[in-house]
Amino acid sequence: MGSLGMPVGRLTATALYHTSHARIENPGTTKGYVNNEFVESKTTKWIDIHDPATNYVVSRCPQSTDAELKAAVDAAEAAFKTFKNTSILSRQQIAFNFVKLIREHWDELAASITLEQGKTVADARGDVLRGLQVAEAACSITSELTGSTLEVSKDMETKMYREPLGVVAAICPFNFPAMIPLWSIPLSIVTGNTLILKPSERDPGAAVLLADLARQAGAPPGVINVVHGSAPTVDFILDDPRIKAISFVGSDKAGKYIYERGTANGKRVQANLGAKNHAVVVPDANKNSTLNAIVGAAFGAAGQRCMALSALVTVGESREWVSEIAERAKQLKVSGGFVEGTDLGPVITPQSKQRIIDIIESAEKEGATILLDGRNIKVDGFPDGNFVGPTIITGVKPGMRCYDEEIFGPVLVVVETETLDEAIELINRNKYGNGSAIFTNSGPTGYKFQKEIEAGQVGINVPIPVPLPMFSFTGNKGSFLGDLNFYGKAGVMFLTQYKTVTSHWRSEDAVGNKADVHMPTHH
Ligand code: NAD
Repeated sequence: MGSLGMPVGRLTATALYHTSHARIENPGTTKGYVNNEFVESKTTKWIDIHDPATNYVVSRCPQSTDAELKAAVDAAEAAFKTFKNTSILSRQQIAFNFVKLIREHWDELAASITLEQGKTVADARGDVLRGLQVAEAACSITSELTGSTLEVSKDMETKMYREPLGVVAAICPFNFPAMIPLWSIPLSIVTGNTLILKPSERDPGAAVLLADLARQAGAPPGVINVVHGSAPTVDFILDDPRIKAISFVGSDKAGKYIYERGTANGKRVQANLGAKNHAVVVPDANKNSTLNAIVGAAFGAAGQRCMALSALVTVGESREWVSEIAERAKQLKVSGGFVEGTDLGPVITPQSKQRIIDIIESAEKEGATILLDGRNIKVDGFPDGNFVGPTIITGVKPGMRCYDEEIFGPVLVVVETETLDEAIELINRNKYGNGSAIFTNSGPTGYKFQKEIEAGQVGINVPIPVPLPMFSFTGNKGSFLGDLNFYGKAGVMFLTQYKTVTSHWRSEDAVGNKADVHMPTHH
């Protein structure tokens, strides 16, 4: 049986998959995916995948062997030779089919995510949706890839257009097991590249399902391949000269390493890194909707979103609102992701839970106040899960560990300021620049914030301003390394390179340019 309790063969719409946290008696193995076939690894190194709500083992992820990694790149290299010459219309058709298939398999994908990652089913469906939207946007590739032409001299034309790079790779984090693979799969297909995808070793199931859906959508063998493992797999990707570009999403530490070694090896690298996203609350904001937006964006997905609002910056008397935020946060239901009515599930691992607890403790030691404490939460029916309840820390200042580090858990730190200028200055001093939001009813206040804030994705009365994929994901400062962002126009640029062709066809050399005196017999 596979990681979703499915037979190891083809995925079908009627396959069984897990929709509860019950113990799985004989957990299977997660397959690799090469040349449109599931691959049972011959490795001796396996990484257990746990349901974060119970810590039961649900599958085992292989550390793909060097031979398996090489076979995947061989497949992708061979596929590129023909795939690059397929017409753009046929690649667009794959994208159309892929969109339809993702919709049809939405429940299975979401179930895989809840089982391995821990988020609620509703949130897992959102994870799929935000990736599906990239696949939908990829369908417009026929308009995105048009080039330009100019007659530069008499009978001489230069045209400039974009070609695929070849074999490209995507290295993904644990927190969006479908969305982030889908930042790469559809765009890689429509631009004519072939892909080596390495999902997170903690929750790789959804990526394998997506690769098989790409096959069903018409992707030829070798176009989408999935390999597994941790650092050794990443090193293989970094060093194989046949891989031309790497799309990385994850933590600062891995991202900086991948960016440096990847670019030193002559590859293009785009790397989305960590974040500390601030929400500024101005007292003129609509109180009810602002409080709900902050509670949802701080604690949803147990704070394990790179765009989670993890720092609240009150301006003046909006500091009084914090107790009401705590009241609403207390109402959130913490439980297993499959349990009806759950608002937030567990964090990914016991180590992650411990790190979050350590940071909360450090805040106390550094003089902050724990206004709402989720450290000792007990969740009915889930004594062994990695649960942390919503936590709010007030009296926080830059320099404290809870402010300086990304916590990646359901913890909101609160910094008080007196003026909007002070709030903007605070945020601009932060090393990260993924996102920031302001809540206000004043147009000029929102506009000033938009102009002055040094964050790549700005929300005005929008808590998680991740743009839809007709735009790009535009983190900046310490949240991004590279030149071209993920998806949208920048994503297409990242996956393609310019070619210019200058041709000279003298009109005086045209054959048959002598007057034809015969009666025409056809046209
Ligand atoms: P991670 O860096 O631990 O893992 C990401 C990937 O890198 C995984 O595939 C992992 O196998 C690999 N990796 C980890 N350590 C490595 C090492 N030492 N050498 C080589 N490869 C290594 O990140 P994570 O914990 O899976 O994800 C959470 C992080 O991702 C958070 O910091 C979050 O902010 C960030 N993130 C950022 C964005 C964004 O768009 N900016 C989106 C999602 C997540």
